[in-house]
Amino acid sequence: MKKLILLAAALPSLAFAAPITQSPAQLRDAALEGDTVAWTMLEGLTTEVGQRLAGTEAEARARAWAVRELTRLGFANVHVEPFDMPVWVRGEEHAEILSPFPQSLVVTALGNSGASPASGVEAEVVAFETVAALEAAPESAVRGKIVFIDHHMAPTQDGSGYGQFGAPRRTGPSLASRKGAVGVVVRSIGTDHHRNPHTGVQSWAAGVQPIPAGALSVPDAEQLQRILSRGQPVRMRLTLTPRNIGTRQSGNVVAEVPGSDPAAGVIVIGGHLDSWDLGTGAIDNAAGVAITTAAAHRIMQAGQPRRTIRVVLFGAEEPGVFGGQAYFDRHHQGDNVVLVGESDFGADRVWRVNITLAPANAAVGDRVAALLAPLGIVRGTGAANAGADLGPWSRAGVAAIDLNQDGTRYFDYHHTPDDTLDKVDPVQLRQNVAAWTATIAAAADAPEAIERAGPPRAAR
Ligand SMILES: [Zn+2]
Repeated sequence: MKKLILLAAALPSLAFAAPITQSPAQLRDAALEGDTVAWTMLEGLTTEVGQRLAGTEAEARARAWAVRELTRLGFANVHVEPFDMPVWVRGEEHAEILSPFPQSLVVTALGNSGASPASGVEAEVVAFETVAALEAAPESAVRGKIVFIDHHMAPTQDGSGYGQFGAPRRTGPSLASRKGAVGVVVRSIGTDHHRNPHTGVQSWAAGVQPIPAGALSVPDAEQLQRILSRGQPVRMRLTLTPRNIGTRQSGNVVAEVPGSDPAAGVIVIGGHLDSWDLGTGAIDNAAGVAITTAAAHRIMQAGQPRRTIRVVLFGAEEPGVFGGQAYFDRHHQGDNVVLVGESDFGADRVWRVNITLAPANAAVGDRVAALLAPLGIVRGTGAANAGADLGPWSRAGVAAIDLNQDGTRYFDYHHTPDDTLDKVDPVQLRQNVAAWTATIAAAADAPEAIERAGPPRAAR
């Protein structure tokens, strides 16, 4: 008997666990008051691993770290699901105005940037206010030049400008190369006025020759604009020497709180483990990793939910959602996933919930919205898209919940050297954990079946 008790205490397995007796509201309030799991995880990952560029040894160390932590926290079925991906790494990065006013500008390479010679490329700068202006320009205006796209982004609470304002970064380089440019720099897709450039991925369109492609910090882009406005030809030397190092392994880290009713389906939540290499990836996305893990952990501590809660910490989101796609490809035919949601917009307070459920499940959505209202969270009228990594599930018709964080300052730090732990407010972090805890506790123990939200739809 003694032996049996010891065994039960030593195993994280929930085979002996009782159903959850605390209400989702009680779990929510306890998280809001006193969660320490999220901060501990966020502090640990950013301190003990640091930056986690996808496909590199740093990201591999993050997976090993996550497996250790999730195991220590008592999750079941902790494992890594590896996948292969092409890996790009940063090199030297300099931008200099050679004439008429010689000076250095702060630049960083965009993901998948082509490489210049070690001595850089030198050319006259041609500026465009928008991608559309570049698109409309004749090749003769661009050939042999360094293109500068000076496109401003303004902060919004819901981050809605990113899709529109991100276009220069995502499509500008291919367009510039196609017209014969020898290099391209964009004004950073950011809302701060610090001398920190914002990196981020861009992909070369089919058949396009990669060229050096960088982002200037916002003050440096404004400086270049003032220099150009003097009306004299401006020559720049752009030195970016990143490398493609071939196919490497990344992976998704998976952990579970096993449910008591396998037929009720699985809820998948998570964030992405990889980050850009300039900061320590605190808001993007150690925060999402920590928030969703802490929520699942709190529910697990309270008892056994009806549905399995699966936490997936995705690899390689930043260079193109490789982990999210690999996870969907591997599981979408075999696994009965009934609800998905990703946290990937920092750690400022959740202000809105968007819920996409089947009409028959309207009551589930109403219960979740009622649980979130005391946290100051309003119910939105938009569709939930489950974030980049779980978006494929949402587009396939699986029910989804988005807990939208206040994004007003998110793009001050996003993808910069300034994405570090001190930018996270522990009080707002706990509010995030409280919101996810209440949402997932209510959904995991919902007595009704959670149905598909609708037919598959195309990516936006
Ligand atoms: Zn992210």
